[in-house]
Amino acid sequence: MTDMHTHTRISADSDETMAAYIARANEIGVNTICITDHADWNPFDTGWKYYDEVSYFADFEYASKNSDGVELLAGVEFGEPHLYRSEFEKLCNSPFDFVIGSVHYTNSYPEWFFNVLIECGVSAEDCYNSYWDSVLDCVSYGGFDCLGHIDIPKRYYKTLLYDESKIRVIYRRMLDNGIILEINTSSLRRGLDVAMPDRELLDIYKREGGKFATIGSDAHRAEDLAAGNSEAEALLKEFGLTEVTFRNRVLKEVNK
Ligand SMILES: [Zn+2]
Ligand SMILES: [Zn+2]
Repeated sequence: MTDMHTHTRISADSDETMAAYIARANEIGVNTICITDHADWNPFDTGWKYYDEVSYFADFEYASKNSDGVELLAGVEFGEPHLYRSEFEKLCNSPFDFVIGSVHYTNSYPEWFFNVLIECGVSAEDCYNSYWDSVLDCVSYGGFDCLGHIDIPKRYYKTLLYDESKIRVIYRRMLDNGIILEINTSSLRRGLDVAMPDRELLDIYKREGGKFATIGSDAHRAEDLAAGNSEAEALLKEFGLTEVTFRNRVLKEVNK
């Protein structure tokens, strides 16, 4: 098993250590873990300027030396790279294996995360309209390897709204810019019975020529490492997609 999306104490919303993930990986049989802590430059995010690259690589180097046979990859989950370009480009000079670009805040509502959008009465329609525009801006800018949790509003609104033609444009832009999809399983731990994305969006990805995807739990604690991995693997198989990891920002197929 591989898990290409995990968070540790370097993220503002996690207290976990890399060592705890390594112990858990050995317990349940995970070969490869990518530690993708949040790097956020949105001043409204609780993790604003929290990311500390020096601490990240210090933790990473120590954990790599004590990895007990588990392959540890250096990653980062950067929020809205299209909006914080100089910070993003500077961070990408660091020796990451894998960079996730995610949209946690939409263009129309930069100060509110999805749960707050709901509390403030923003409809699912308004949220998704702004969200898909933001995702298109994000993948058009590019510079990252993988788009995080493509339909994340679903995790909060519990419904998926999209216009197929818009999704096609997003996928084409992704493929042109060398960005692949992630199967993010965190929705399975948030009361949904489907991953992000589920079949509808995977089907469009496949039809637009998508071939590869990573699997990520988006764990913020070691006990969630690789949670939902078998469901994600089954989805990849169903759509004939190949699971991949990245090393030095280069895609590598996972041999089963
Ligand atoms: Zn995220
Ligand atoms: Zn994440």
